[in-house]
Amino acid sequence: MAQVRLNHIYKKYGDVTAVKDFDLDIQDQEFLVLVGPSGCGKSTTLRMIAGLEEISDGELYIGDRLVNDVPPKDRDIAMVFQSYALYPHMNVYQNMAFGLKLRKFKKDEIDKRVREAAKILDIEHLLDRKPKALSGGQRQRVALGRAIVREPQVFLMDEPLSNLDAKLRVQMRTEISKLHQRLKTTVVYVTHDQTEAMTMGDRIVVMKDGVIQQAATPTEIYQHPANVFVAGFIGSPSMNFIQGQLSEEGGDVLFQGTGLKVKLPQGRAKSLREKGYVGKEVIFGIRPEDIHDEQLFIESSPDSVIHAKVEVAENMGSEMYLYLSGIADKWVTARVNARSQFGAGAEVKLALDMNKVHIFDKE
Ligand code: ADP
Repeated sequence: MAQVRLNHIYKKYGDVTAVKDFDLDIQDQEFLVLVGPSGCGKSTTLRMIAGLEEISDGELYIGDRLVNDVPPKDRDIAMVFQSYALYPHMNVYQNMAFGLKLRKFKKDEIDKRVREAAKILDIEHLLDRKPKALSGGQRQRVALGRAIVREPQVFLMDEPLSNLDAKLRVQMRTEISKLHQRLKTTVVYVTHDQTEAMTMGDRIVVMKDGVIQQAATPTEIYQHPANVFVAGFIGSPSMNFIQGQLSEEGGDVLFQGTGLKVKLPQGRAKSLREKGYVGKEVIFGIRPEDIHDEQLFIESSPDSVIHAKVEVAENMGSEMYLYLSGIADKWVTARVNARSQFGAGAEVKLALDMNKVHIFDKE
């Protein structure tokens, strides 16, 4: 068990700065997820923690120990990769035992740890099998088992589920979360999948171009994204963004975009005034689920009623995605109940939940 401290860490490959001023304390027993699009520096960050990449600048602590120059095998970490990296000629038992054997553990101790881990992962019946006789999910469990037997202070996981099919991925997501609760170890987990990040992380770090955009709990990230990038990356379908201006009119703060003029609630108006946003060009954000078609909501929200045309209606079974024109330069997505039964071409009246609106600086 250990805290991991990344103190103003940089990684440079020649002229490319892959990770820039990464500054974060990962708490003991925390499940921390690094998420972001391909190439944003997630793996490089993880590999620096593992000791597989040299740190260009900054300090890395695992527990109280400065480990910048400590080789990977002495860092007391275990890494799980997306490719599993199992030895094909060894059976499951031998694969799990291998790392301990290398470290000269006694046979009894190895046996105890392998059997314990196999029990936790429910692969006791597979110990004699070779990897080729295992399913993808079973191989993934063995890869986890190999990390567990080491009883490391920190688990590092690099997209461990990306080779599994969708259903198995959901199942293993839950299993890894349960495993974390049981082992109470610090986990740093890399993924490009925002759903994995949201469902597994105690805390999520959203990265872009090697820079941390926001580090916060899933709820905080969802409800209070720090910028347009985070807001657009987390949430599906993605948040709608509309460019426009905030203005003061008869004691109210209004947002006006191309096809949209709405009044902000008094509480929001006050804080927007204080932050100096009034009179400025801004980006107005609203999530698809915060656009409502229920009559009651529309009647009680006269300040935020919009008229739009349904261009495309996608029925997802229990809900429906409406792609709407007439509100902004591009289509706006609304997520409504499938009972709504709107079809393409329909002229609709909807209301925005103005308490859920986000206002961002124009970038
Ligand atoms: P992610 O894991 O988020 O997809 P990476 O950490 O793999 O991103 O890569 C971050 C950036 O560093 C990318 O621009 C990538 O091209 C660059 N990069 C990674 N490894 C190397 C390397 N060995 N040499 C040069 N550039 C690299």
